Amino acid sequence: MPSSQRAERPGSTPSTPRLPAVAALAALLVGACGDGERAGGTRASRGPAQRVILVTCDTLRADRLGFAGHPLPTSPNLDALAAESTVFENAWAAAPLTGPSLAALLTGRFPDEVGGGPTNRDHMPEEVLTIAEVVRDAGFRTAAFVSNGVLRRPPPEAGAIGVQQGFEVYDDAMNSKERNRDLLERTADACTDAALAWLAGRSADEAFFLWVHYQDPHGPYTPPAAHLAPLEGRHPSGPELPLGATHSGRGQIPRYQALPGLTTPGPYLDRYDAEVRYFDAELGRLLGELRRRDLLDEALLVVSADHGESLGEGHYWLCHGETLQPELVRVPLLVRYPARLTRGAEPPLGAARRVAAPVGHVDLWPTFVEALGLEAPRNRGLSLLGPGLPERRVLPQFLRSLDDPNRHLAVTDGRWRAVLVRSDPPRLYDLREDPLEREDVADRHPEVLADLQARYAEFMRSDPRPWSRPVRPALDALQRRGLQGLGYTDGDDH
Ligand SMILES: [Zn+2]
Repeated sequence: MPSSQRAERPGSTPSTPRLPAVAALAALLVGACGDGERAGGTRASRGPAQRVILVTCDTLRADRLGFAGHPLPTSPNLDALAAESTVFENAWAAAPLTGPSLAALLTGRFPDEVGGGPTNRDHMPEEVLTIAEVVRDAGFRTAAFVSNGVLRRPPPEAGAIGVQQGFEVYDDAMNSKERNRDLLERTADACTDAALAWLAGRSADEAFFLWVHYQDPHGPYTPPAAHLAPLEGRHPSGPELPLGATHSGRGQIPRYQALPGLTTPGPYLDRYDAEVRYFDAELGRLLGELRRRDLLDEALLVVSADHGESLGEGHYWLCHGETLQPELVRVPLLVRYPARLTRGAEPPLGAARRVAAPVGHVDLWPTFVEALGLEAPRNRGLSLLGPGLPERRVLPQFLRSLDDPNRHLAVTDGRWRAVLVRSDPPRLYDLREDPLEREDVADRHPEVLADLQARYAEFMRSDPRPWSRPVRPALDALQRRGLQGLGYTDGDDH
């Protein structure tokens, strides 16, 4: 591959070479692209976008943003972006945890299928093909800048390589540590700086795939003072909450979230919003530089979150990763289309378009493939480039592995959502009447529940992938203990 001979930016490390068999398969899949015209040292896109820019934000709830109706000033830059983008109002992550959610986003397949779940300690093995590998092997530059410690490259003894597969530059340098846990992270300003340093070497006509993952507003909520100032005191104090001895948010402030002297929800909610505002400001800085360098208008830009956060719903506080409640798996999703698609499009693709049809992170794989004109199957998703998304389709969400007695599966078709916890009776929610899922209506609509389950089973059976192959089992307990000693895990999944 020509890409493997490229010089890396100082301080970055190329990702692990992929298995020859996978490389050959990918070459076959994208071979129709040929060598093509080159721009900035890479081949030019044959699709409507010259490049793809994917921005994900950790723990960002869909409903805490101004364009989604939040009344507080958390997101001026995202609100401006929404005015020139399509906002998918009914977007779902595949899991309420960083690792499995992003594994699904980058593969167009579900966590069970790619070994990217069920926890943050399980890394995808090399056998899995990621969108970055497909894009890289088609001759585009690929680069990622991540800020969550669980996205760091795993050490060789982990026996897997994770979500960095396919990124020529995978910058996982962390400049900070969580306040209450031995987990590394990178602040949003440092993440933007790193991405901008890479962009400084790009020419205006260059084709590339860039992924930037911000860690704020993941807890503990410690925003810069300048972003807390306009939001402090905006939430009522609320009831006293116990400070947890564990990292669980069930009925308590999780231990990893505890801030000195703060024992009621209000100050935490203020700080969560301020963290969102901090991310928003850094996104604004990144977008500003992309515009200034004329790299935005010919790009497909996607902004989303890996998962949400519960801010007290169901007495589950300041936490994620323990249930599939909607606050945890509904995510913001904005797509700013390249100019070649928006010019004269009818209906218009930009200009504050809102789409109510259900979509998922798995739809980004086929969207990226189509945007760059690549030859690859669509995997589990549907392209978001066209106007014809179905109003009803099956989209699942997952928590924990298939063999876990407390396995959670949720299935929505946009109108209804079934929540199937192995140890509990199945629940059903009417999203049209009850989007926050307050009232279980399984007893009233058993036929709907059965229909959803049947359609889910059929959907999973109908997998069209040509590269389906078994993946190695997740890390065993012994490996996990070894990783704990290296600071990769802290005995929980958040
Ligand atoms: Zn996360």
